[in-house]
Amino acid sequence: MKHVALLAFALWLVATAPAAELRVSTDFEGGSARVESIDQAARVIRFMPGGDPRRGWPCWWYLRVDGVGKDERVTLDLAGSDRPTRNNGQDTGKPLAASWAMPARATFSTDSKAWQHTAPGRREGARIFYEVTGTGGPLWVAWGPPFTPRDTDALLAEAEKLSPSAKSFELARTRADRPVRGLRVGEATTKKPPGIWVQARQHAWESGSCWVARGFTEWLVSDDAEAKWLRHHAEVFIVPIMDVDNAASGNGGKEAAPRDHNRDWDDNPVYPEVAAAQQRLKAMVKEDRLAVFLDLHNPGPGDPTFFYILENQLLKEPMIAERDRFIALAYGRISKIKPLIPMSNRPKTTGANYHPLWRNISANWVCMNGNPDTVSLCLETLWNYEHSTTDGYRAVGRQLGRATADYLRGRASAVPRP
Ligand SMILES: [Zn+2]
Repeated sequence: MKHVALLAFALWLVATAPAAELRVSTDFEGGSARVESIDQAARVIRFMPGGDPRRGWPCWWYLRVDGVGKDERVTLDLAGSDRPTRNNGQDTGKPLAASWAMPARATFSTDSKAWQHTAPGRREGARIFYEVTGTGGPLWVAWGPPFTPRDTDALLAEAEKLSPSAKSFELARTRADRPVRGLRVGEATTKKPPGIWVQARQHAWESGSCWVARGFTEWLVSDDAEAKWLRHHAEVFIVPIMDVDNAASGNGGKEAAPRDHNRDWDDNPVYPEVAAAQQRLKAMVKEDRLAVFLDLHNPGPGDPTFFYILENQLLKEPMIAERDRFIALAYGRISKIKPLIPMSNRPKTTGANYHPLWRNISANWVCMNGNPDTVSLCLETLWNYEHSTTDGYRAVGRQLGRATADYLRGRASAVPRP
């Protein structure tokens, strides 16, 4: 009887023990949040994205939560940033629409490596509520699956291990002196093989684009027969993060001052990494071998996956026909992903009606400075969807790689040029 009473007392102690204090931190690579308040009793963390609008749209957020007990549920109560944002290169005086910061499902991890979706959040007025269940250790919660310069390092090291033809390189050092790293993959025996350039994350909040680049890279160095074919017939460059400074500091990048990375492609780029990419691309154009340029992004909250292109009247053949052939092949591949990542086969255009600096958009710059048959495209991969997970994004990257091989194989000029 005495034992039963003791046991009951012990159980009572556990049940009534005060929960550990909830603590939020963002002092790590890519971290970003402005905590409004933490309700320790109700276990609710109220916060908004922490980014500085001068460094891009403040829609990215990524925080670590400590003090969540095993099987304990906490609520993340998110508002959009209240700071005035920039658009079309100017301060709008108004905050960014909150929907950019509010995926239907947030992303979380218990080890900051494997990322999964939360259940759908509950939208109420200007706020959204996500619930996360603890395991007793720290939790990391973010807008989407994070990908930081450390992940680039890991991806490049893994690729070099898997394929002797993969070699990492430093594209440039950023304005804040961080390395912008990329991977070159190629086993072609011809002197001037077709060049393929794949880059992601010119807009730092669009972390999903890095996972597409990762899927492309993992496929390219794999045993897949089509990947081997591509390695043997092309020289491929992949830069997983272009805007390293904002990806590392947790800022949004898009519409940053003085310029957005993807509005920086002219004769005097602000960013060393843009200048360095231009130089490498120009060198391939000079050798008449720039075959494909792909700039990876995530679109607006309600958009499916799609390509951005220039209007036909701004281009000449054979560029238009080659581009359309690439788009058809990519659509054929990506729209077969299971579970489905919805994709539109109708590209959108980025000409004069899209943005005042449309000429300085990377894919447009490459069209205007490329070879007559260069295919240059921006791929926007849908992010606000149940299958927009690390696996979903990687599947898009893999299929984009296969489409690139399909395209090159069917290209009249795939045969080495004289
Ligand atoms: Zn973008």
